[in-house]
Amino acid sequence: MKKFKENHNSDEQEQSDTAQEAKKELYKLFRTEFGRSPDVISSAPGRINLMGEHTDYNDGFVLPVAIDRRTYTAAGRRGGKLFIAFTKELGKKTSFDISTNRFERSNFWANYLKGAALLLNKYGAIQGTNFAIASTVPRGSGLSSSTAFVVSAVESLIHLYNLNVDKSEIPKIARQIENEFVGVQSGIMDPFVVTFAKANTAILLDTRNLQYEYIPFPKNLSILVCVTGLKRALANTEYNRRREECQQAVSALSKITGREIKSLRDVTLQDLDGAVNELPSLLYRRAIHIITENERVHQMANALRESNLTYAGKLMIESHLSLRSNYEVSSRELDSFVEVAEQLYGVYGARMTGAGFGGSVVCLANSEAEEELAKEISQKYKERGFDSGSVFIARTGSGLQIERS
Ligand code: ADP
Ligand code: MG
Repeated sequence: MKKFKENHNSDEQEQSDTAQEAKKELYKLFRTEFGRSPDVISSAPGRINLMGEHTDYNDGFVLPVAIDRRTYTAAGRRGGKLFIAFTKELGKKTSFDISTNRFERSNFWANYLKGAALLLNKYGAIQGTNFAIASTVPRGSGLSSSTAFVVSAVESLIHLYNLNVDKSEIPKIARQIENEFVGVQSGIMDPFVVTFAKANTAILLDTRNLQYEYIPFPKNLSILVCVTGLKRALANTEYNRRREECQQAVSALSKITGREIKSLRDVTLQDLDGAVNELPSLLYRRAIHIITENERVHQMANALRESNLTYAGKLMIESHLSLRSNYEVSSRELDSFVEVAEQLYGVYGARMTGAGFGGSVVCLANSEAEEELAKEISQKYKERGFDSGSVFIARTGSGLQIERS
């Protein structure tokens, strides 16, 4: 126990050293790009989801955790109407006039800033601004780099222009930017956890009413993120199709039960059993995933509270199997990561995280063996003939914050 505590403290030290380094570098980058210092630096984390996949658009429950990979936005007033932004990892610079601002396919990443300018203008006058962005969140890997980026950018603008925006509004604004301006149909989970996360906890969130509770994350548990490196070609179409199928299941179940059902959140296993002969089998499989996944979120929260890691791992595996066979959003790569991970001593469980098809697998492992396990998973995955995957150890992270002002 004592040994562990020491490890944990040195981890925190290491984390804050890395964060200090990242801020310093971004500060320098901003000065190089714009010849003056930024007025504010904000940051927001990437996330994994421990349990509750595809439940958020069914009014259900989720259990996400912010990780210690962050996106930093440095911003400074420049007057006028121009936004000029440089993003370090993409190596790109863009500029646009916020008074004639519109969505453009080219320079896709600029749309997040355009959306922010447009939506925040309701809360007060936004003016020309310089931005420099740096990030350690892998992009396009199901770890929500887009939300880390947009939430940190929104916060920097709120701070710069003293906008009257309550913190509870930020997830809704960020979601609106992604949904309506950028055109990605994402739920409330990502902006919520990215805004409100606390280190060493998961957030148990009811996406219907946004009630939430912090659940302690066990100290001897490590998160291994297994990134497939796959672009999720199918993800958008299939994601929209799953949303429709859930709606169809709701309509069919309303007719069968004679009850007005609003979402799959309100359907029990008993309801579903009673409808098994009348409900088309595809809709049955979609519905049973959502219903059992919602239950698993509560079971997982209990497993974490009690530090019952074996049980937590078993729930992860059950969730993955349901996503694979009932919801059909997995892929060979995701399945392979789960299969190689679950065979290793010291791994409690693994499952895909995010919308599916590509993206990442999240694996829970005994902290004492984390480095060896990460290496072994990576090696065994490659032995199966996949060459683009990678595995990294993630710590829990904290939510949105102002780093410097
Ligand atoms: P995910 O959110 O799972 O990482 P998305 O496809 O939703 O994947 O978001 C990735 C997109 O978000 C990138 O293509 C880019 O447009 C934008 N983005 C994310 N991080 C950054 C960054 N640091 N700088 C600029 N754009 C970013
Ligand atoms: Mg995203």
